[in-house]
Amino acid sequence: MIVTKRVFIKTWGCQMNEHDAERMAGLVAPMGYVPTATPDDADLILLNTCSIRDKAEQKVYSDLGRLNAIKAARPDVLIGVAGCVAQQEGRALLQRAPAVDLVFGSKGIERLPALLTEALTTGRRVVYTEDPIGIAPTLPADRRERVRAWVSIMEGCENACSFCVVPATRGRERSRLSREIYDEIAALCASGCREVTLLGQNVNSYGRTSFEGVDFAALLGGIHPIEGLARIRYTTSHPNAMTPRLMETLARWPKVCRHVHLPLQAGSDRTLERMRRGYTLLEYMALVDGLRQRMPDVALTTDVIVGFPGETEADFRDTLAALEAIEFDNIYAFKYSRRPNTAALAMEDHVPESEKDRRLQAALAAQRPITRRKNDALQNRVEEVLVEGPSKTDRTRLMGRTSSNRVVNFDGPPTLIGRLLRVRITQVKANSLDGRVDE
Ligand code: SAM
Ligand code: SF4
Repeated sequence: MIVTKRVFIKTWGCQMNEHDAERMAGLVAPMGYVPTATPDDADLILLNTCSIRDKAEQKVYSDLGRLNAIKAARPDVLIGVAGCVAQQEGRALLQRAPAVDLVFGSKGIERLPALLTEALTTGRRVVYTEDPIGIAPTLPADRRERVRAWVSIMEGCENACSFCVVPATRGRERSRLSREIYDEIAALCASGCREVTLLGQNVNSYGRTSFEGVDFAALLGGIHPIEGLARIRYTTSHPNAMTPRLMETLARWPKVCRHVHLPLQAGSDRTLERMRRGYTLLEYMALVDGLRQRMPDVALTTDVIVGFPGETEADFRDTLAALEAIEFDNIYAFKYSRRPNTAALAMEDHVPESEKDRRLQAALAAQRPITRRKNDALQNRVEEVLVEGPSKTDRTRLMGRTSSNRVVNFDGPPTLIGRLLRVRITQVKANSLDGRVDE
């Protein structure tokens, strides 16, 4: 008989990390662990960490400090650190955090049951930071949502952007087998899922390191006919893997959402080169044109880093000018953060923190009216919305998303959850839209 135990998982970082948490819960479920919402009654506590920027990493250390008290009161509780900080720090974490029993990086999730068993049976502290290669495994996942699901299609990254820890923390690129992805999505749809978000560090280079000969465009073609599936999202796309063939595919399949997240990072070619991004601003803008020509209604979002080492005022102005010229629907802007084991760390002329703050605010201020204009253009238009569940701000209402990934709140009965509806946009608010079901 399996004795029920409780697992508490706390996650920082990106959607891939959030999905990793679902997979960790799925992996320990057969060992008798059920999720709990608090560390106080947990038998197993897993911190699923992020190290993309220093701030995220520091949050983990302050949590670990608090967990010492739990371990002191209940020595039997097992504490594990997973994810990118675990991968980066490895054994050093054991010294820094005496309460920790288990350290396994983002590359080693599939080993969780074996590592946990080792820690439980030997009483020893266990560390796993190997770098697997080959095919990414299919893992169980304990998902919280029914209508939407994350599906990891590839892991790791073959690039070497000079600011980024991901190649070090998530390892070499590994794709999953296409058949296993189709089967997972078909099973999800059979139990009510309507929308999948395909996840990967560079989702559009899917298949590059696999023997299968199935690229991202072909994968989309295989996913599209799956019964019950209404929408396909994917993130993140890398500009260098956005081929004309892929653009044609994105435009051809109606279930593929009209939203592309395509990180630009900087508008200055000098900075792009030192970031080792592998494209110029003009090449990036040609991709934007290619996407908009094929999909006039496509929403484009991007990531921008300000204050990269050596970024001059003129370089930064190039970024502002690029934002004005491209007119993204929205942007995610970050201050450059020094990361261990990255080439940019050794570069000269690090930009002072106060200047990074100023540039961040200036980039956000430049984008704000553009985002507002794009949203205002939706006023009174009818959009196709997938109903996800109760509205976050008012549980008596419903919320869903447009194909372009904008949140819409509207009135309607819970029986509409999971349906694709035509919704007329009645009001544009700062972070969402209000609408009315269009008969
Ligand atoms: N693979 C995607 C690409 O290359 O387009 C990006 C994935 S990365 C996990 C997400 C975003 O974090 C990046 O697009 C970048 O803007 C930001 N980022 C990565 N390293 C950073 C750093 N050292 N400082 C600030 N932002 C960073
Ligand atoms: Fe990081 Fe660059 Fe890889 Fe993206 S492509 S994950 S930014 S190294």
